[in-house]
Amino acid sequence: MNELYHIFAGIIIVGIIYFRYKWPSVKGKLGEKSVGFYLSFLNDDKYKVLNDLIYRNGDRSTQIDHVVVSTRGIFVIETKNYKGCIYGSEHKDYWTHTLGRHRYSLYNPIIQNENHVRFLMRKFPYIWERQQCIHSIVVFLNAEKLKLSGDCGCVVRLKNLNYYITSFSRDVLSQEECSKIVAMLRNEQWADPNAERKHLKNVKAAVNEYERKVSHGICPRCGGELIKRKGKYGTFLGCSNYPNCKYTH
Ligand SMILES: [Zn+2]
Repeated sequence: MNELYHIFAGIIIVGIIYFRYKWPSVKGKLGEKSVGFYLSFLNDDKYKVLNDLIYRNGDRSTQIDHVVVSTRGIFVIETKNYKGCIYGSEHKDYWTHTLGRHRYSLYNPIIQNENHVRFLMRKFPYIWERQQCIHSIVVFLNAEKLKLSGDCGCVVRLKNLNYYITSFSRDVLSQEECSKIVAMLRNEQWADPNAERKHLKNVKAAVNEYERKVSHGICPRCGGELIKRKGKYGTFLGCSNYPNCKYTH
């Protein structure tokens, strides 16, 4: 009986550890699901919603939470499910997320989603030719406070998402163009059953490469040299190619 009790307790402990380890990705998935649900209220005839897309291009890959295609444009959406407060700025590579007394940093989601857009354009020349029709959107689900500086107009809360999308009221694409783009985005997803795992491996490699460059004094955006500069809040590393490159660390 005692042995059974130990096995049972062991299973519970392993379960808790596994759940804690998996919680960030579970939370991310739940966030994506609620945004997908919210988007489903858009007029189905006018707006085609595609959720959780993974694409591969050479040895690179990208995962896009949602794309909405309509004659009013192509909306590429990145979902962020964070409680607490978010502080950020348009050009800063990292934003701050505070929860109680804890502070975390998160990669600037505007830049992250712009990278998704660039990836789509590189993969699909047809979309590249229509890049003026693309709108990048970052949606925050649970943040209590969003304190952003610079041009962060593409960052919206969930309750304003559909309103923001439908605020673009001018037709910029024909029905045929929309159908072609939807078919392309549906059919050319990375078909590998392990696509998500492989994609995460690619992301880790990219993060390591980013950190390696910064630690060697190389600008991760343009390859320029990182030099010490003095600012309002103390010294920081800035790119030697400023103002063409606004990278700071
Ligand atoms: Zn640079």
